[in-house]
Amino acid sequence: MLVIGLTGGIGTGKTEATHILRELGAVVVDSDKIAHLSYEPGTEAHSQIVSKFGDEILADSGVIDRSQLGELVFSNVVHREELEAIVWPAVDKLIEASLLKEEQRGIRIVVIEAAKLFESGWDRFTDVIWTVEAFEAEVVVRVANRSGLSESDTKSRIAAQLTREERVEWADVVIENNATLENLRDQVTILWESIPK
Ligand code: ATP
Repeated sequence: MLVIGLTGGIGTGKTEATHILRELGAVVVDSDKIAHLSYEPGTEAHSQIVSKFGDEILADSGVIDRSQLGELVFSNVVHREELEAIVWPAVDKLIEASLLKEEQRGIRIVVIEAAKLFESGWDRFTDVIWTVEAFEAEVVVRVANRSGLSESDTKSRIAAQLTREERVEWADVVIENNATLENLRDQVTILWESIPK
């Protein structure tokens, strides 16, 4: 089985690229979704997060309120690292299980989408890495349109990630997403079709 790691900075177009890949027939493991599963009520990560950050991050249902948690960790590096130290090992196990399941059902190519592919060490699960990149000015506009984040908030999130140069150096393939979504589709389709199946 070939495992492709798909990474890139905030708002560069990873999710759009995975939509295209799914349409082309790829199986995509979404590390964000897996992270949310890793701290569902009843999990070890859930109790560790609550004991670290307090009951105020819980919704009435007992589910961890992701926007509350996000506010706590995006503004504070120590909190972010504490959260990652809880969530990443839990995600490791779920990614491993998910790759095993896909392999057992005969899937030939799996894409792992992760903004923090390198920082988390999940790059070790991959055979090849693609990074989606876009100019910062473009990202600021797209993220403002998508989620109403201010320019300074977007820039501080960009600053908290690896740099474009680091990702480009460590990735095998760079997808420059500075034009239209059609252009992104064309690039992703060419890449997908170049993989022997
Ligand atoms: P994050 O890491 O923040 O989740 P992401 O890398 O998954 O971001 P997307 O959600 O795919 O990024 O893209 C960010 C926003 O920019 C979305 O609203 C998306 O529709 C839009 N977008 C992405 N690529 C393009 C493009 N080429 N042209 C126009 N809009 C785009």
